[in-house]
Amino acid sequence: MQTLVGKTTEELVTVAAEMGAPTFRGRQIAAALYKRHARAWDALSDLPRDLRARLAENYDLAPCRVRSQSESPDGTVKYLLDLPDQEVVEAVFLPYPGRTSVCISSQVGCPMACSFCATGTEGLARNLTAGEIVDQVLQLQALHPEQRITHVVLMGMGEPLLNYAAMLRAVRLLNAEVGIAMRHLTVSTIGVVPNLLKLAEEDLQLTLAVSLHAPNDALRSELVPLNDKYPLARLLDACRTYAEKTKRRITFEYVLLAGVNDGEKEAHELGRLLKNLALVSVNTIPYNTTDVAARYRRPTPEAARRFREIVADYGVTITQRQERGHRIAAACGQLKRSVLKPGSSLRPLPMASRAVAASTVAGREG
Ligand code: SAH
Repeated sequence: MQTLVGKTTEELVTVAAEMGAPTFRGRQIAAALYKRHARAWDALSDLPRDLRARLAENYDLAPCRVRSQSESPDGTVKYLLDLPDQEVVEAVFLPYPGRTSVCISSQVGCPMACSFCATGTEGLARNLTAGEIVDQVLQLQALHPEQRITHVVLMGMGEPLLNYAAMLRAVRLLNAEVGIAMRHLTVSTIGVVPNLLKLAEEDLQLTLAVSLHAPNDALRSELVPLNDKYPLARLLDACRTYAEKTKRRITFEYVLLAGVNDGEKEAHELGRLLKNLALVSVNTIPYNTTDVAARYRRPTPEAARRFREIVADYGVTITQRQERGHRIAAACGQLKRSVLKPGSSLRPLPMASRAVAASTVAGREG
């Protein structure tokens, strides 16, 4: 069954009209869903009972339901959300002083198979719909009514640019209906070049993050298989075009893996690679240890600082991600793995059994 969450106000007006209700009823539904974060038909109390009943016969209200949650002392809460077909995605609530951010998923699983990423081991189960992407924000907002969500990052499970149409529709709904400023919406991509160029043409003021992780093709291909298809030169070219078209700064994400990509050699290479690019900055993320790639380790704080100093000497802006939720397994795909143990009633995802088998052998915290 279709859900009402995911429809624009205009579309909700049409839905109401199909049920013989006047235009303002459609607007009331939109306000209930997107402004008051209603999660049940009872909460649409300004609608006549018979209209509510007819809507409920034809539509579900919202697709996401909380399956489990884990909270960190710093206030970060990571949620596992059930979807109507029993698939599961992760979303994270991140309160900071002065702003509240949520990190949401764009796909169930991910086909990109980055070597260090827990989600990458599952493969792709399916794309999320625009309604399912938006509803992660609405569900988390409903659970935290005191803290207004101001920022949304598509840095959860999945590759947003491989679910292009739904991602774009979700971004527009979050902006126009939910009221999140376009600049406070961040799309993070591994670098699907044709879709990155397409996004540049949309003329949106959203914030783009590109997962770089390595300063040369040999190393990047080892970490990010897609690099074979779109090597660094092509990716950086697309980033240059994107920045020129949108006049927006691009953030390059760089997961620091001890002894792999965090050395002085890589820092110099990265500095040289980016120093002549306008409108870019680098955000380092110390690796969140996962059991699927136990060979990777977090760098020491000293190594991370040295890396940043060297890159900064090239005139490249570089900062370290403020870390949240390390203790609650907040890295992409980790919570889902820790909750969905073998024998869980849940339908396994493609490749999930292989990942579980691997974790039984290698399962330990680094
Ligand atoms: N597919 C998109 C968005 C999802 S991942 C992308 O690749 O950008 C969001 C970020 O988290 C990416 O930069 C990803 O490389 C990073 N990441 C994944 N697993 C991680 C881990 N275990 N520790 C730290 N960062 C991780």
